[in-house]
Amino acid sequence: MFLVTQQLTKKFGGLVAVNEVDFSIEKGKINAIIGPNGAGKSTFFNLISGFHPPSAGKVIFKGIDITNMPSNKIAELGIARTFQTTNLFEQATVLDNVIVGHRLRTKSNLLDAIFRTKRLKLEEEQCREKAMEVIEFTGLKKVTGKLVGSLTQEEKKRTAFALALATDPEILFLDEPAAGVNPDETEGLAELMKKMVQKGITVCLIEHKMQMIMKLADKIMVLNYGEKIAEGTPEEIRNNPTVIKAYLGG
Ligand code: ADP
Ligand code: MG
Repeated sequence: MFLVTQQLTKKFGGLVAVNEVDFSIEKGKINAIIGPNGAGKSTFFNLISGFHPPSAGKVIFKGIDITNMPSNKIAELGIARTFQTTNLFEQATVLDNVIVGHRLRTKSNLLDAIFRTKRLKLEEEQCREKAMEVIEFTGLKKVTGKLVGSLTQEEKKRTAFALALATDPEILFLDEPAAGVNPDETEGLAELMKKMVQKGITVCLIEHKMQMIMKLADKIMVLNYGEKIAEGTPEEIRNNPTVIKAYLGG
């Protein structure tokens, strides 16, 4: 098993945001999580990536129990994520945003900074090289030196992808990566996700755009009021009576 959650639960006071969810993410595939607003999708990501401690349950990555590990340790193990609202520095260039993303993974310690400036220089160069590589991969080469604040919505989304990719993740969690972009741009982002998978990265995304998900995902989990109500291929999900009921509110 690549990454699994076991009975994963999060309570906020009296509200059960994620309720005993068993989920298994398939390696090398596009895994999707769908569900109405407030279903617990983002919270589920927060639990896996260590941004919130779970109330109960476990997260196991490649046989290692990562429940309650700090988020930076989890990132070091190869789990990266983007946020529903992009957390980019609007006043910095695309390149600088991505370099910061890379540093988070390859931070040198203070002694290095003081005594080993040569090695640090080398690291700086490696950072820059890695940043340029992911900028090219995400199709952002022509806006490398532009301020993120001046980019289109789609370019901002791609920058958020680039930032996450700079840490060389094995799994990338994307929270509503296509929110607020037009259909053509959505298509472009879907292509980019396929390219990531071809490169060997496992993708897990939350998305509201049903057409996109049904075409793109290999496997879908449906959350409703914190509970997993269905799991399966797009075809299975499309025809699942419980899912249809949850979405139509009937
Ligand atoms: P989704 O991403 O599926 O729209 P969320 O995971 O953001 O849903 O939220 C699930 C539920 O948990 C919602 O009712 C939301 O209000 C609540 N919630 C999320 N984060 C917090 C928090 N930090 N404190 C209290 N309640 C929260
Ligand atoms: Mg959300």
